[in-house]
Amino acid sequence: MAGDRTGTALLVDLAAIVANYNLICAGLAPGAKCMAVVKADAYGLGAGPVAQALWRAGCRQFAVATIDEGMSLRAAFEDVPLEATPEIFVLHGLYPGTAEDFAAAWLTPMLNTPAQVGEWARFAESVGRPLGAGVHIDTGMTRLGLSPAEARDLAERPPRGVTVQVVMSHLACADEVGHAKNAEQLVAFRAVRGLFPAARASFANSAGTLLGPDYHFELVRPGIALYGGNPLVSGVNKFRQVAQLKAKIVQLHRVDTPRSVGYGAAHSITGPARIATVPVGYADGYLRSLSRRGIASINGVRVPVVGRVSMDLITLDVSRLAERDCAVGTEVELLGNTVTLDEVAASAGTIPYEILTRLGPRLRRSYIGEAA
Ligand SMILES: *Cc1c(COP(=O)(O)O)cnc(C)c1O
Repeated sequence: MAGDRTGTALLVDLAAIVANYNLICAGLAPGAKCMAVVKADAYGLGAGPVAQALWRAGCRQFAVATIDEGMSLRAAFEDVPLEATPEIFVLHGLYPGTAEDFAAAWLTPMLNTPAQVGEWARFAESVGRPLGAGVHIDTGMTRLGLSPAEARDLAERPPRGVTVQVVMSHLACADEVGHAKNAEQLVAFRAVRGLFPAARASFANSAGTLLGPDYHFELVRPGIALYGGNPLVSGVNKFRQVAQLKAKIVQLHRVDTPRSVGYGAAHSITGPARIATVPVGYADGYLRSLSRRGIASINGVRVPVVGRVSMDLITLDVSRLAERDCAVGTEVELLGNTVTLDEVAASAGTIPYEILTRLGPRLRRSYIGEAA
């Protein structure tokens, strides 16, 4: 197993990411193209390798949250010829004073406010060439974007020098298929997208993509589906598992007399038991809320986390495994094909997004499943 010197590894299956990408592009939204969302370092999995794998699979649009993420992503494509280099959209838009950096790295801001539109237009005028932009329109989430009235103003008085290439909005409740807000936002989006007939329209995140062709438009914006999480709050997950968190048992305890395990003496052992200590903790993103709730898998056998998750270690009750199947050095899966991302998130009382983005910097990322 590729990992650090203790054998702890975060394996990222690039073939699974590409399979999820193909399922979205070819299967679910065949009429649309994919703007792959690789913000927050591709949800913690590594934006550079993930985006390069998607690029090799044909993806030519990416979205990040911040300009700094955009600049590092552009650097990951420095060997790509200019005509094949992807578009990189920055969802947080244009922060004051950053226009020059945007242009230098060929980043496209998603303009969220009239002030951002104004600044990008003034910058375009100052450099004397037209600049592309996306515009984000708020259709009901009250988070980012121009109001529909501001969008109308922009369409009626387009600033010289700014070419609106993409018009987008974001769904608030797409993970709940039957939620009335989805259809309401769709009506609002159709009205505003019509103001920018030359622009590509983008509306659906992963969950929105599953709402059907009405929601697809020209560009879908999947994130979590690429990384193997179920975008919907219920129902079957159609996407392949991507992240595998593995570690090796560092110590085993054979317990014959009653005693407690871990901080707070939170777990009591009454009968004979065997406890395995594994070198992963909340500093690695194995959330403390998984104390007494988490499940690990040893060769496909599911064993419970007992006691509290500490910063660098967890303890498992491995009594049900034969001694020869569970020793110091035996590999444990904490996240992967047996203990899925969705299951870990549910056990931790959170969503798959938070599990992935908390995976810590101490975990060595290894990329598998594709010639990198
Ligand atoms: C994060 C994000 C996405 C991707 O969302 P998923 O639910 O992960 O598919 C799409 N669009 C916007 C605006 C986002 O912020």
